[in-house]
Amino acid sequence: MSNYETREHDVLVVGAGGAGLRAAIEAASKGLRVALVCKSLLGKAHTVMAEGGIAAAMATVDSRDGWQTHFRDTMIGGKYLNNWRMAQLHAQEAPECVTELERWGAVFDRTHDGKILQRAFGGHTYKRLCHVGDRTGLELIRTLQDKGVHSGIDVYMECTISKLLKDEDRIAGAFGYFREDGRYILFRAKAVVLATGGVGKAFLVTSNSWEYTADGHALAYDAGADLIDMEFVQFHPTGMVAPTGVRGILVTEAVRGEGGILRNSLGERFMWKYLPEALKNDYAADEAEAKLWVEDTLSGKLRTDHRRPPELSTRDNVARAIYQEVKAGRGSPSGGVFLDISYQPADRVKKKLPSMYHQFKDLADVDITKVPMEVGPTMHYIMGGIRVDADTAESRVPGLFAAGECSGGMHGANRLGGNSLSDLIVFGRRAGRGAATYASNLGTLPRISDAEVNDAIDELEAPLKRSEGPNPYHVQKKMYEITGECFSIFREEGDLTKGLRLMEELKEEIKRVRGPGGKAYNPGWHLCRDLRNLAIAAEAIGRSALSRRESRGAHSRLDYTETDEKLGHENTSIFRGPDGSMHLEKTPLPEMPAELKEILKKKEVAHA
Ligand SMILES: Cc1cc2nc3c(=O)[nH]c(=O)nc-3n(C[C@H](O)[C@H](O)[C@H](O)COP(=O)(O)OP(=O)(O)OC[C@H]3O[C@@H](n4cnc5c(N)ncnc54)[C@H](O)[C@@H]3O)c2cc1C
Repeated sequence: MSNYETREHDVLVVGAGGAGLRAAIEAASKGLRVALVCKSLLGKAHTVMAEGGIAAAMATVDSRDGWQTHFRDTMIGGKYLNNWRMAQLHAQEAPECVTELERWGAVFDRTHDGKILQRAFGGHTYKRLCHVGDRTGLELIRTLQDKGVHSGIDVYMECTISKLLKDEDRIAGAFGYFREDGRYILFRAKAVVLATGGVGKAFLVTSNSWEYTADGHALAYDAGADLIDMEFVQFHPTGMVAPTGVRGILVTEAVRGEGGILRNSLGERFMWKYLPEALKNDYAADEAEAKLWVEDTLSGKLRTDHRRPPELSTRDNVARAIYQEVKAGRGSPSGGVFLDISYQPADRVKKKLPSMYHQFKDLADVDITKVPMEVGPTMHYIMGGIRVDADTAESRVPGLFAAGECSGGMHGANRLGGNSLSDLIVFGRRAGRGAATYASNLGTLPRISDAEVNDAIDELEAPLKRSEGPNPYHVQKKMYEITGECFSIFREEGDLTKGLRLMEELKEEIKRVRGPGGKAYNPGWHLCRDLRNLAIAAEAIGRSALSRRESRGAHSRLDYTETDEKLGHENTSIFRGPDGSMHLEKTPLPEMPAELKEILKKKEVAHA
């Protein structure tokens, strides 16, 4: 049997993005022994890529803002399927979490009088996104990393956790391997926090990086936790479409937040056609009013009396609009539409959107201060994830906690831009606290059997030992075809059923994939493991999408185009049955307290 080293901690945090770092800092502040594990180098998590900003009702730019309006916007954006308690805690605690970041050294862009500057974003009633140009995630990670390394956390880098281990029904630790040489490591821990991010690599065209292989979703599912809302996959409306090699890379919503205009190949500003009837009054009535809004933004005087342009509709809506314009033959030459910020002064564009300027210049040889960009939808975020308790972030497996993109409930059927970064720090903190309390109450470390560890090693080594079997890269390509054709932006029963049938065949292939060579520097071997996790996410997306016979938020059915009021009261839950196969059930949403219902009814909320 292979050797492995063993480490003991009170709390093990898997994932070093915003959620994981914040959880680890919180658990360490309670005096516990905390480990933080990440697949790449510390500081290189997905969070670092976040551009547009972090949503928090600080009311520094628009004094009308407050937590109640943020709560209301989040629920409307999520089409009321959100876990109301999470949405409430998020809106209430985001401002203090941003202030805490500032205390720890984060330097946000400022207003003329020295307050944190906030910008407009889709679906947010007021200017609410605290930002650092278009490099907000970098500042967030830099700050949390600085704080984290001075908090006495043990960091294990380039280490992939492949299995959670249990002592009867409760969490007892995790098993993993170091990516560079394949050596094994066993973590014994009283509590585990999953903060592994999303599932983007289940799709070919995505804004997500290589790390997003659904590991946390799969680890939790295997350990007996349930996944909710997996049908809700966010396709960001604006990804790069050309050249082919960069297709999918994000074009931040901040471009539209700063006044970017969407047009089709006929030069039409098409978003007015696609605004939901009920929300039309929230947006500028015509070009003239939209122009005044941009002038307010450019002047820096922070006036608040003009309504926002239609490009700042929610992401699901803008993505569908672009898809339909392209489908109707009104797309740009590379199959997207045009996004134009070039009408603004070049200096301002470079100052407000420096990363976008360089991204287009370096990757596409396009100067966005002179010509419009070509953009189209790209898989960006998954609203679905591990079901957790809102207050403690604990899953239904005792000792297993989750926060950030791998958890579910907070965003309902559609996430508003900027609400992820705030989600990370609000629920990262709560998960760290919840895990610390659980670990402190537990006493001694739970037991881990040799048999469980041996199983974990056997699973990892099987693809290395096979003399024949499918090439994992070919299998990955097939998965992309299934998800792209059957589980994508528009869905219908025939495609979903076909996709699920093909997934059954693919799962059989994944059981036989082969990653020949040694354990050192062997990306094919890593992919064999990733495929298994991605297949769990893809199947969960397909099954959940098939079961939801309506269109709601990011889930659009061609055969059920309307939103069905009755289905707005239940989440879709996915869990592993005793026979090892995937099961689905509908679970009712918890009843919302009357005072929160009142907030949702009001058009304008008065804040104290
Ligand atoms: C280009 C881009 C721009 C964005 N801009 C914004 C924005 O402006 N505002 C906003 O609110 N949101 C934005 N988002 C979304 C937001 O960035 C993410 O949802 C968020 O950063 C996720 O954070 P996280 O902590 O959950 O995960 P991550 O930051 O992705 O961290 C995941 C961590 O888990 C580790 N990991 C994964 N699997 C394993 C494993 N098996 N073993 C060990 N470690 C593992 C990874 O190495 C990594 O350290 C953007 C997303 C993208 C892609």
